[in-house]
Amino acid sequence: MTQTTVVMLSTEHPAGALVDATAPLIHIEDQGLTRGDGVFETMLSANRSVRKLGAHLARLTGSARLLDLPMPTEENLRTAIDLALSAAEAGPQTVLGEEHTVKIIISRGTVAGGPHSWVTVAPSPAGILTQREQGVRAMLLPRGHDPAEDSTYPWLLAGAKTLSYAVNMSVLRYVKQHGADDAIWVTEDRRILEGATSSVIVAKTEGEKKVLYTPEPSHGILPGTTQGVIFEGARTAGWELGYGPLYPHDLLEADAVWLASSVRLLAPVTHLNGTPLATDSQLTEKFLGYLARS
Ligand code: PLP
Repeated sequence: MTQTTVVMLSTEHPAGALVDATAPLIHIEDQGLTRGDGVFETMLSANRSVRKLGAHLARLTGSARLLDLPMPTEENLRTAIDLALSAAEAGPQTVLGEEHTVKIIISRGTVAGGPHSWVTVAPSPAGILTQREQGVRAMLLPRGHDPAEDSTYPWLLAGAKTLSYAVNMSVLRYVKQHGADDAIWVTEDRRILEGATSSVIVAKTEGEKKVLYTPEPSHGILPGTTQGVIFEGARTAGWELGYGPLYPHDLLEADAVWLASSVRLLAPVTHLNGTPLATDSQLTEKFLGYLARS
């Protein structure tokens, strides 16, 4: 029994057709599967509406372009998502209006068949919902090299959201074995980069000013759509915005630090390498408000 709903886009059905999620759908030689050669987006849907869909489609377009993969038209993708969401909401276990995780995947496919895309809708993972309420204990870990160095070499795919997430998953297993919930990657000189599957946001009071920081998104890390919406809301509300560089002491001295991503929304970082950090539930609520309107 699966709780996942799948809509496949094909030449025959460019705007997608509902398929049986328990049937074999992916060829054993699909290069998305065998090589992680493909791109994806993970989104949150609440009340049958995908949050900040435009920003996700824009990032998917950029990722597909970097990998020379064909991007389905926006209209076809929107139709496919609507179809998948309607089918998911009609499912027996679904409470109307509950949150879903929506994914779009574009895979290289097989050598003979070529690229193909599909949309999945599933209940959001329980672990990530817990992070919203309980916050996360984060651990700083080296990225091994500065991803900004990759930006000059298009074949290194800096800034693309590719299916190759084995390292992102491996770092999560590592932190869990060492008593933490999530990782924050740093460069060799301890500059803050991003979480394993999230952006880092830091609120600081500097004299009279309230400043919201995130590490420079165009420097080899994934430009987060959640961070983007929060920064836009904060800018309108009079915050100053900063793009670092940030170092561990900036997090230790901050008013609050969060890991931000589409399904997690905002997880307050409660500890950094075991040291308690300041948190601010009112600020969390305010920033969640910006996301709810997106
Ligand atoms: N950075 C990485 C490495 C991610 O995997 C993600 C999301 O999955 C993010 C940042 C946050 O991106 P978004 O806010 O668009 O979900």
